[in-house]
Amino acid sequence: SSAPPVLQIRALHSHYGPIQALHGIDIDVRQGQLVALVGANGAGKTTLLRAISGVQPVSGGAIAFGDVDITRASPDQRVRAGICQVPEGRQVFGPMSVEDNLRLGAYTRPKTELAGDLERVYALFPVLEEKRLLVAGMLSGGQQQMLAMARALMGHPKLLLLDEPSMGLAPLLIRDIFRIVEGLRDEGITIFLVEQNAHAALAIADVGYVIETGAIVLSGPGPELLGNEQVQSAYLGM
Ligand code: ATP
Repeated sequence: SSAPPVLQIRALHSHYGPIQALHGIDIDVRQGQLVALVGANGAGKTTLLRAISGVQPVSGGAIAFGDVDITRASPDQRVRAGICQVPEGRQVFGPMSVEDNLRLGAYTRPKTELAGDLERVYALFPVLEEKRLLVAGMLSGGQQQMLAMARALMGHPKLLLLDEPSMGLAPLLIRDIFRIVEGLRDEGITIFLVEQNAHAALAIADVGYVIETGAIVLSGPGPELLGNEQVQSAYLGM
């Protein structure tokens, strides 16, 4: 792809005290791409996402967002620059209504844009419009995942970070969620997706990366990785 780079990660290292969790990670996400990082439990996926959003210290290497070096930027600066993370486990505000959850996602936006922003996410997630006055805690797991994504989109991120959106969902819902993620990419939203469900993630990814014990061991077009023998035996149970 010749689209401009949105996120460039170079030789990134990160530690938890004496434990090294990331060993020199290189990743590129270009504008409009859906890039998936897959790997087993404990491989370092969450650590990398936390380093990108600025809540995990980096012990070496660099992260560029557009043409700005954000390696030392605060989490808030990164959100304001347009990086938005949808956390693992969804973390919507259960006692608040669906629509109030969405309003929270718009905190960096001008108030005058709120109505239009709500209309846009309701067009992407019609079920949320139907349930907009319900408290979020009443939604199903899949709908809470949609609400978490919609809340992130209310801030018009330039880069959406998705942490394990399939976590805890039944297989049919996983299919729906990945269809939605694909739809967001088709809307032009740039997405970096982290998943243990390698099959579902690589099937929709423009580019995939495989992480093992803190290092990238394979990368390439998503469907090509799906066909890779090493990936099939290690991650797809083939
Ligand atoms: P999961 O899918 O379970 O979230 P992951 O791929 O996201 O796994 P990480 O959570 O990033 O993996 O963990 C990477 C490595 O860092 C693991 O070896 C883990 O044990 C270690 N680690 C993670 N959090 C801490 C911590 N708070 N203190 C010490 N080591 C940690």
